[in-house]
Amino acid sequence: DSISAVAAGLNNYLLFPEGRYHMEEVEEGLCLCPACRRREKEDDYSKDTVIKHNYNMLLRELAMVKNAIKKGVLRQFVETRTASSPSLMEKLRVLRQEHYSFLEKRTPVTKKTTLLATSTDSIFYPEVERFRKRVLENYRKPVSTRILLFLPCSVKKPYSLSKSHRMFRNVLRSTGNPWVVHEVIVTSPLGIVPRELELVYPACRYDIPVTGYWYEEEKKMIQRMIREYLNRNVYETIISHLPETLNKIIEEEIPEMISTCRGHPTSKGSLKKLNEVLKEYVNKYEHVTGDVRMREMIKCVAQYQFGDNVASQMIRDDVVVIGRYPSLKVLKDTQQIAAFSTERGLLSLTLAGGEYLVSAEKNWVVIEETIEPKGSVLAVGVKDADPGIRVEDDVVVLRKKRLYATGVAKMNGEEMKEMQTGEAVRIRHHRS
Ligand SMILES: [Zn+2]
Repeated sequence: DSISAVAAGLNNYLLFPEGRYHMEEVEEGLCLCPACRRREKEDDYSKDTVIKHNYNMLLRELAMVKNAIKKGVLRQFVETRTASSPSLMEKLRVLRQEHYSFLEKRTPVTKKTTLLATSTDSIFYPEVERFRKRVLENYRKPVSTRILLFLPCSVKKPYSLSKSHRMFRNVLRSTGNPWVVHEVIVTSPLGIVPRELELVYPACRYDIPVTGYWYEEEKKMIQRMIREYLNRNVYETIISHLPETLNKIIEEEIPEMISTCRGHPTSKGSLKKLNEVLKEYVNKYEHVTGDVRMREMIKCVAQYQFGDNVASQMIRDDVVVIGRYPSLKVLKDTQQIAAFSTERGLLSLTLAGGEYLVSAEKNWVVIEETIEPKGSVLAVGVKDADPGIRVEDDVVVLRKKRLYATGVAKMNGEEMKEMQTGEAVRIRHHRS
């Protein structure tokens, strides 16, 4: 539709992504599109040139959109465009705040690009809201932990690779019973990130402007999240190692918590205080082993990913986790059921692991009996699919009513059913 471009041209307006200019306002060199460049220096703009320019701008915008989609940065692109138009910004806000489920359905569960949370609206991003929702509704704290320790986030992700978090963990280790402590990172726009989920998107890849200043909306979001989280997850002691402004926000919710931060969280005084307080509390409890916590960590990821029901069936006490964090294998009776790695930050199921999704009727895709796909399931071969499936979810492929393969969704469940073209599932393991 180029009517607006022509109409603007007939009225002598040149369109730009940042707004429109009357042809008399346009300075030399402002636009280098073919139409503008062809114009002789002294010449005024002709209507014809203006219209051609407007066409060029539209074509360029289309190319920019295509490129942004390809690179997975469409939202960022849209945000730069709405920044110069209050009415577009209005529509984007309404879309975000009132149509969460529409957007969430179309948002992959994991991405390779970094989430740039530069706008205060980022607390409404669908992947951010979904993360908070899953933490509050699916996730449960590791059973063996008794002490909650709030930590600040770090610029480097995952947090545990940052200098500050290494210092915190050294302090924890020196207490003699580190695994009885549950580390929970307080941050915006995600609210809280339990340590077990630090490799889950977007916790593993987001960037925020760090100012130490908290907006009222962020403050309320963090308080609400902590309140709801503590309704579901009970600890005997709560310690906060958060810088002062953030600590105050949390203290309003948990007046009884112990604060250990003195000035900067990694200052000598702060680390010393943290060490003293932890030592006083951790040894009141039975010693918790790293192996137990590793299994609980995998269970936490499974809860986040598939819900509590599947997680408690899949990760029982007989499950063994081997490997070196974060590259882990999950075994049951010496048979591998899943793998965990930094790349996805989620569990990747084997056929044996897939059976748990089958029996829970979760993330299933039924394919035509006439096909036996090896590399990918195409949408045209899908008979039916769980509408709850999101792009990048681990799914089970059923053929003749039995598990045929496990893989990763490349469309959401509704699209798999409706679409006639395109890849629906990238197969990881299949029956021979
Ligand atoms: Zn131009």
